[in-house]
Amino acid sequence: MDIKDVKKIVTHLHLDGSIDIELAKKYAKEDGYDLTDDEIVKELQVDKGCHNLNDYLEKFTLPCSLLQTKERLESTTYALFRKLYLENVIYAEIRFAPIKHQEKGLNLDEVITSVIKGMEKAKAEFDILGGIILCCMRDSSKDDNLKIVKYAKKYLNKGVLAVDLAGAEGLYETKNFKYIFDLCKNLNIPYTIHAGEADGVSSISSALDFGTKRLGHGIRCIEDKEILKRIINEKILLEICPTSNFQTEAVKGEHPLEYLYSNGVLISINTDNDTVSNINITEEYRNVLNNTNLTIKDLIKCNYNSIPYLFTTDEIKDKLKMIIEKETFV
Ligand SMILES: [Zn+2]
Repeated sequence: MDIKDVKKIVTHLHLDGSIDIELAKKYAKEDGYDLTDDEIVKELQVDKGCHNLNDYLEKFTLPCSLLQTKERLESTTYALFRKLYLENVIYAEIRFAPIKHQEKGLNLDEVITSVIKGMEKAKAEFDILGGIILCCMRDSSKDDNLKIVKYAKKYLNKGVLAVDLAGAEGLYETKNFKYIFDLCKNLNIPYTIHAGEADGVSSISSALDFGTKRLGHGIRCIEDKEILKRIINEKILLEICPTSNFQTEAVKGEHPLEYLYSNGVLISINTDNDTVSNINITEEYRNVLNNTNLTIKDLIKCNYNSIPYLFTTDEIKDKLKMIIEKETFV
């Protein structure tokens, strides 16, 4: 079985960081950017000069500045779901930070409904399921983050599935964002949290204290036996993004995913950002196969085991289970 044919589930993928390069070139030209095609690509993708998450996050400046209209948000989302479908992704949760798309006067309703519209259009055309996760940002004000949670409630199960906390983890400690998840709990909104990437054990510990069942990355749990034990015992799903982890230097040397998997940690393999990281999900899976002892069956199992953690209905979860069970017995 070729890795491209494996039915995939994506739990951790950023919209702006996965903008289609041809669309970005088109938008940059429309906006009068004085950049060659090569320079645009350089603005969108990390290179050897990236040594930490802060360097990595610089690559979001151009896509964010381009994605400031309803049409572009819709088209970019549509293109991403289409691309994922072509990679045999059967279900994807795409995340983005609505607050970053208001530079040219869009209101939050317009931002969020444009993304939902692009997704729904793709879902109607292609055999792919999924939804949107709204990111609160570490560099946003408390008021803005609480506003995002309220908008997540407004669009919950109408395209939006959950809330996330993203941004510079090394600069803004996770423990300071309890207020986001308190409100999520009050409003019955599911959530995931970026933690254990640029910051270590204390960040993971705060995220777990906030009651999350999923961690964006979480890989730095290997630095502490107690926190690792907690992740295993509390059955936390780690949304792992190997290529991105090497680029941000959250991981140096061998990636801990095989160690985590063989010690019973639930993991889901993702790219984080197709464009910023210059990778796609098929190549990410291929890298895992080439650099670890995991097999295609293990990757299928990772997808299967992540289903209960998806922010979707039982009906869709059953459907995904059936698709993957069929595949396992091919
Ligand atoms: Zn991420």
